[in-house]
Amino acid sequence: MSGRVYLVGAGPGDPGLLTARALELIAAADVILYDRLIPSAALDGARADAELLFVGKEGGGPSVPQEQTEALMIERAQAGSTVVRLKGGDPFVFGRGGEEALALRAAGIPFEVVPGVTAGVAASAYAGIPVTHRGLASAVALVTGHAREDTRDAAGEPTPEEEGGIDWPALAAFPGTLVFYMGVRRLPDIAASLIAGGRPGSQAVAVVEAGTLPGQRTVTGTLETIAEAVEREGVRPPSITVVGPVAALAEELAWLDPRPLAGLTVAVTRARAQASGLARRLEALGASVIQAPVIRVQGVSDPAHSPALDPTPYDLICMTSANGVAGLFERLDDGTHPPGDSRSLAGATVAAIGPGTARALAERGIVADVVPERSVAESLVAALAEVPVTRALIATAREARDVLPEALRARGAEVDVLALYETVAEPLSPRTLQAVRAADYITFTSSSTVSFFLDAAGEERGGISADTRVVSIGPVTSATLREHGLEPDVEADRYDVEGMIAALLADAAARANDGR
Ligand code: SAH
Repeated sequence: MSGRVYLVGAGPGDPGLLTARALELIAAADVILYDRLIPSAALDGARADAELLFVGKEGGGPSVPQEQTEALMIERAQAGSTVVRLKGGDPFVFGRGGEEALALRAAGIPFEVVPGVTAGVAASAYAGIPVTHRGLASAVALVTGHAREDTRDAAGEPTPEEEGGIDWPALAAFPGTLVFYMGVRRLPDIAASLIAGGRPGSQAVAVVEAGTLPGQRTVTGTLETIAEAVEREGVRPPSITVVGPVAALAEELAWLDPRPLAGLTVAVTRARAQASGLARRLEALGASVIQAPVIRVQGVSDPAHSPALDPTPYDLICMTSANGVAGLFERLDDGTHPPGDSRSLAGATVAAIGPGTARALAERGIVADVVPERSVAESLVAALAEVPVTRALIATAREARDVLPEALRARGAEVDVLALYETVAEPLSPRTLQAVRAADYITFTSSSTVSFFLDAAGEERGGISADTRVVSIGPVTSATLREHGLEPDVEADRYDVEGMIAALLADAAARANDGR
C-alpha cells in the first residue's frame, strides 16, 4: 500500500514558528524532502534513520528540477514510506505546493496539506508591520515579484510560472497592502510600474530581509526612494517588500530588540549531537551559525570488558562528560536492580566535571555530589580533595587526559578508568569549510575539535582568515590551539558552554564599542 505524503509548511525561518503538526510529522517521517528556505533547526527532530533529501538549490548551483522532486516524492510514497515534503513558509503560497498536490492526486497517492506561517505576513509582523490595519488597509494582496521568463529567483525558490504576467495597472489600483515575494532585484521595475499605474510615489514601502531569522533587517522608504535604498544597503534574498501606508508603521512598531550578535557569523565545530544547544543559543542572540561538526562521538566497544558494569565496588564514580553518562548507564548492572537502573549508583559518591555532565546525570535521577566551579580535570581534583576515596571509577573518553586518575592514585586510591566513548573525525564539505574560514568567530569546545578541525582543513592555521576571532572554551583547549600555531582571541573563564558564550558576547560588545 502506498504511503501518505504530507505537504508541510515549515514557516519563515524562526524555528519557533514551525507548527505543532509540522514537528509531529517531521518526527514521524520515513523520508523528508526539503528546500533551502526552511529553518535550520527544522530537521533536528527527524528520526535518526529517516532519509533526508535536499531538493533545493545549493549556492549558485543547479536546483533539482520540479518534475524530479515530484517523481521522487511519488516513488518513495509508492514504496510505502511516509513522506514529508517540507517547504518554507506555507506550501500553497508561491511554493508550487499546488502543483505537487496535483501530481500526487494524478498518481493516486493520498496526501495532506499542513499550512505554514507565510513569509509575507510573518516577516512583516516581525518588522512591526500589520499587513491590514483599521483605517490604513482593509485588504492585502500577496504578489510574486518575479518576471515570467525566469524559473528560479536568486534565493533558489521556484517561480510560480502559472502566475504569469502581472496586470500592473490593476495591481496599482488594488485597494490595500501589496506584499511582494521574491524579486528584490526587480524592485526598480516594480516601483516604477506601480507609480505608472497610479500609486503615489510618496507611498511607504518597507523591505524586510531574512524576516524572523537572526539577521533580520528592515529598509524603509517610498516608492520613489526604495530601489536606491535597497541598493545602497545591499539587501539580499530572501526578502519581502511591503507597499502601502502600513509599511510606515514599521518605524513605530518595530519590536524586535537589537540582538547582540546580529550580523555576526559564528562557526560551531563540536559534534552535531551536542551542537544544537549551542547553535540555538547563539542564534537567539542574533548570530548566523555555521554548523561545522568536525567530530562525532561514538561508543567504544571494548572486548576486554564485558558490557555489564557493576558499580557497587566503587565508593567514588567520576563522570567527565554527558557522553560518558549515557555510555555508563548503558552498561550499569549490579545484579540486583534491572540493568541501567540508577539505584545501582546509590552507594557511591558521584562527581561530575561540570554543569553539562551534572545535567545529564540529573536527567537520570542522580544529583551529583560534587561539581567543581570550572569544568576542567584540575578543578575536579581540587573539589574532591576532602572526599574520602578507596576505589574510584572514572567513566571517560578514550583520549582523556590522565590528570584525574593520577591525582586519585597519588592519594592511594585504586582507580579504574573506563573509556566509554571516543571522538572520530567527521568530514567537512568544501562549502562548509569555506564558510568557516570566513566566519567572524570560530568556536572550539575541546582539544579534539581543534585537532580534528586542523586535520580536516589541511592548511596552516586551518586556512582561517586573520579577521576570524578564535574562541576557546578553556585553557586546555587554548593550549592545543597554541600547539597548532593558533592564538585564541577569546577564552571562557568558566570553561563551559555558557562561559564561552558570555566571553564571546563580551568580545563582540568590546569590538562594537571600538567601532571595528
Ligand atoms: N512558500 C513560501 C514562499 C516561497 S517563495 C512562503 O509561504 O513564505 C520564496 C520567497 O519567499 C523569497 O524569495 C522571499 O521573497 C520570501 N521569503 C521566504 N522566507 C523569507 C524570510 N525569512 N524573510 C523574507 N522573505 C522571505
